[in-house]
Amino acid sequence: MKPANSGTSTLPTPPAHPGLFSANTSRADHFTESVIREMTRLSLKFNAINLAQGFPDFPCPAELKTAACEAVHGDFNQYAITWGARELREALAQKVKRYNRMIFNPESEITVACGSTEAMMASMLAVIQPGDEVVVPEPFYENYGPDAQISGAVPRFVPLADDFSIDEEAWKSGFTKKKTRAIILNTPNNPTGKVFSKKELTFIADLCTDYNVIAITDEIYEHILYDGNEHVSLGSIDGMQERTITIGSFSKTYSVTGWRVGYALASAGITERIRKIHDFLTVGAPAPLQQACVTALMLPEAYYQNLAKEYDRKRMILFEGLRQAGFSCLLPQGAYYIFTDISEYGMKDTEFAHLLVEKTGVAAVPGSSFYHTGGQTKLRFTFSKKDETLYEACRRLENLNLA
Ligand code: PLP
Repeated sequence: MKPANSGTSTLPTPPAHPGLFSANTSRADHFTESVIREMTRLSLKFNAINLAQGFPDFPCPAELKTAACEAVHGDFNQYAITWGARELREALAQKVKRYNRMIFNPESEITVACGSTEAMMASMLAVIQPGDEVVVPEPFYENYGPDAQISGAVPRFVPLADDFSIDEEAWKSGFTKKKTRAIILNTPNNPTGKVFSKKELTFIADLCTDYNVIAITDEIYEHILYDGNEHVSLGSIDGMQERTITIGSFSKTYSVTGWRVGYALASAGITERIRKIHDFLTVGAPAPLQQACVTALMLPEAYYQNLAKEYDRKRMILFEGLRQAGFSCLLPQGAYYIFTDISEYGMKDTEFAHLLVEKTGVAAVPGSSFYHTGGQTKLRFTFSKKDETLYEACRRLENLNLA
């Protein structure tokens, strides 16, 4: 079975207007709607607890709400500068210097976009020519498959081992001097919770240098880390800044997934191209919310420590609940997902997830949506929810009976 969003599907959706379109005439025919968003719709339909989509059901910090209201009342209601309000780019440059140990010029190397989703798409369109190969570690965040399709990239999937470490030989064979243009990395990782170590990132950096490849790195969960794991930006490894596009977002760190503010950091040459694409895709990210994001970047260090601490408690609640219910899983090192194994249930992921949402009232994501092939023995649960939501989900899972 082909997974929904591998980006390699050869099964076109039947055209809506057969007279106007014949099969395979649209790049949109090569991927399906997001399975994660579909699970959210099913969750609403069955009044289930949505542990499928990674968004918090608790409020964002009060300072951010106040700042957003003030920005609207302060008349920040027209287009911001296409590549982002100056104050925000300047605040980002400071933050990235401090936290990510990279220096970017806010005038020429930072682009604010509509979430990291748009930052990723604009980056891929900026650096990839149709037919270029892009290395994608698997399992991968669902969007990268359609992103590859839309940009015309040919994805080369390289596996993570069962413990989510790098299979070095398989990764090396994913790169070729002639065809490989880019690698997409995500650390801390969705869905696995893997946090790539400096040693692993150095291995990836060496591959990028040897094969003259651009790294596009999605670091949206950079502040959500457990057990002493540290976030290292691939772009901060020696020699990598020039060939790395670092993508970040306010969505997860500040619990504002609906605000749609993210960014791409890259050398001036690459940024010029990203900005052009970004301009014609969206013009710009929401102006008042960009102002509020400046306030977000001024929150004290204690905010980030507390965020990680809160998520650590939620991680343990869900982990214990899943283990009690009979799932086998590893504790994530970062991000806010648990990727479980369901092989012993003898049921495929999609059937399992559909029964789970309907009969148990808990929504999860079928594992195959994170693989180009396989993944039917996995499910992904998020713990980005209030403690009481998680306890109730665990209570429902305790009596798991899918018969
Ligand atoms: N990248 C990863 C790895 C994600 O998990 C998500 C959301 O779940 C996104 C990007 C989307 O981020 P944004 O809201 O900034 O578009």
